[in-house]
Amino acid sequence: MDRSFLKDKKRIVVKIGTSTITHTSTGNLNLGKLERLVRMLTDIRNQDKEVVVVSSGAIGAGRKALGIKERPKTLSVKQACAAVGQARLMMVYQKLCSEYNQTAAQVLLTKDTMVNDSSRYNAQNTFDELLRLGAIPIVNENDTVSTSEIPYVDSFGDNDRLSAIVAALIGADLLILLSDIDGLYTDDPRSNPDARFISLVPEISQKYLNMGKETSGSSVGTGGMSAKLAAARIATDSGADMVIANGDQIDVIMDIMSGKEKGTLFLAHPNLDFDLMHYLNNEY
Ligand code: GLU
Repeated sequence: MDRSFLKDKKRIVVKIGTSTITHTSTGNLNLGKLERLVRMLTDIRNQDKEVVVVSSGAIGAGRKALGIKERPKTLSVKQACAAVGQARLMMVYQKLCSEYNQTAAQVLLTKDTMVNDSSRYNAQNTFDELLRLGAIPIVNENDTVSTSEIPYVDSFGDNDRLSAIVAALIGADLLILLSDIDGLYTDDPRSNPDARFISLVPEISQKYLNMGKETSGSSVGTGGMSAKLAAARIATDSGADMVIANGDQIDVIMDIMSGKEKGTLFLAHPNLDFDLMHYLNNEY
């Protein structure tokens, strides 16, 4: 399918997974990649487009700063890591953004604030104002206070869903989800060599949902393919096209936006009855 229509997108959400912005060998932040990311975000802004980043990596960065070797299992350790790591992550984004004369803005969301009508409207207004002012909102879940012990009930669960919820909230027309996989396959390509790559999903049906896998396969990321398909459902129902691609080569963002056939494209099919609350309550 000709993807040149992606060139005309105006309000873009880019989700960056932990595996994309850290070195696999050490778990430390990959500054070279973050620098290229910020350069691309600047270039998107230079084309008079609006861009929002949903960035993971807080827990990982905090873990490194605190010298914790294992991936934290208990909630309080995760939350402490997030408190340290979120500040570090923003420090890096801010430093890189200022080098390119861009203004980074931190937006931390919780599921509670999204299900509450007045705080959701406030968040929406804040995003609109930040974009109007030309800032680049950098979003994450507020892991320090989200009680993520029961994912999807009292937290977003993963940043794949969160990025789709943000895309729906701000009326984005494109969501780019970068991860450590190339896109959607008929089965998990890491365990099934016969798995086939799917380049286009015209509309998400049960057939595609069955291809989702719960595990992410990476030692740092959270959401697996099922989380990405859930995100695709939210984004496409809200009216945004979505592309899942491998963030290994971060320049893929520009390739996607210039209409190149990279990753799996999920086409928007705006649902006139779209109601974000329905998705926040997992009633779909
Ligand atoms: N909010 C988590 C973090 O910043 C990441 C969650 C996710 O990657 O899905 O570490």
